[in-house]
Amino acid sequence: MVIVDSHAHLFEMKKDYVLPSDIYPVVVGYSHSSNQKAAELARKHNYPLAIGIAPQTSIKEGIAKLDEWVEFIARSKPNAIGEVGLDYKWAQTKQDVEKEHILFDRMIALAKDMKLPIVIHSRNNPNENEVPKNAIDEIIEKTRGMKVLMHFYSGNAQQAKEIVKNGGYLSIIHLRSKERRKVIEEVSLERLLVESDSPYVGRTPETIREAVAYIAEVKDLEVEEVITATTRNAMDFFNFTV
Ligand SMILES: [Zn+2]
Repeated sequence: MVIVDSHAHLFEMKKDYVLPSDIYPVVVGYSHSSNQKAAELARKHNYPLAIGIAPQTSIKEGIAKLDEWVEFIARSKPNAIGEVGLDYKWAQTKQDVEKEHILFDRMIALAKDMKLPIVIHSRNNPNENEVPKNAIDEIIEKTRGMKVLMHFYSGNAQQAKEIVKNGGYLSIIHLRSKERRKVIEEVSLERLLVESDSPYVGRTPETIREAVAYIAEVKDLEVEEVITATTRNAMDFFNFTV
């Protein structure tokens, strides 16, 4: 039985890392240089690919080269545009927010142009500054009518229900919290995927086994049932077969 890791930065794993044969990754980029590495690795192994420019990148690197970056993404024929979105924890000023918006709007236009689904990175703002608090509500508005996957979903159950009502999917990470438990309870298994976000959050793709176990426990299901559903959902969303 194959488990799909819907979000792995696999090109950043240690050189000697060997992926277990029952884990199939979606390879994800977040900047021009990481997109290039992701595309090369995905092509080599025939893995599904999601590439895009993430909001943090617009602040770290600016957006002057956006045309060139977009051209590369379009040329690489990915399965989805992502990870892209709004990160209000990273943004510190109104100018940062403006840059994130210019970039995100461009990524949305690209996904629409290419008729591709979109993988969203979003973080709300826990700080007291001029940056808005809530990124997820803005994302829900901006992506209405699109096929959306919320990666490392960190919003509340109410927002989760809104996303699913609009046809969206949520990707669940192994980390446990009260809020995440409530999201898993409220959202149908038909709309859940699992991910490691390795090596940044889960150290390796194997952590999706814990995410699967978490969903099985909360929903009182067999592990096999969760694997079958999340794998099918990932294949539907990213349009590939294992
Ligand atoms: Zn990521």
